[in-house]
Amino acid sequence: MSQLKDFRIEDNKALLGAIIKPREPNVPAHIFWDPILSDGVDLKCSLHNSSLTRTGKMTTEKGRDQTRTIWHVGTNCILVSALYNCKMCGHDSKHLAHDENITQQLPSSVVIPFEIFHRSAATKDLIELIFGGIKSGK
Ligand SMILES: [Zn+2]
Repeated sequence: MSQLKDFRIEDNKALLGAIIKPREPNVPAHIFWDPILSDGVDLKCSLHNSSLTRTGKMTTEKGRDQTRTIWHVGTNCILVSALYNCKMCGHDSKHLAHDENITQQLPSSVVIPFEIFHRSAATKDLIELIFGGIKSGK
């Protein structure tokens, strides 16, 4: 775990949006999600239509801006999202990068590896597996 102390997602952009599967058993997969950093997209606040900026912070294990545990094939997956700021909303406002108001603004060139539902969420890998099984009658 000590290697993670100096981990910065800015230095590891290739990991953004990928499902990172650990080699160790019983350790969940992770997705780091920050489409402004990975794809350079311009995203707007849904209330003010002003551009969102990166805070440089991600959701954490504890507190108000928590990570989400989502369903994945064979294991759970921790969705770690960037927190964005809107100047008009104020300094304390934080917009979660996986929020529907943000993901629906993304161009089709940005592949979203998860689907957020009202009370749960899953990776697209899992959703495709389930739908593939239903189609083939398994
Ligand atoms: Zn705003």
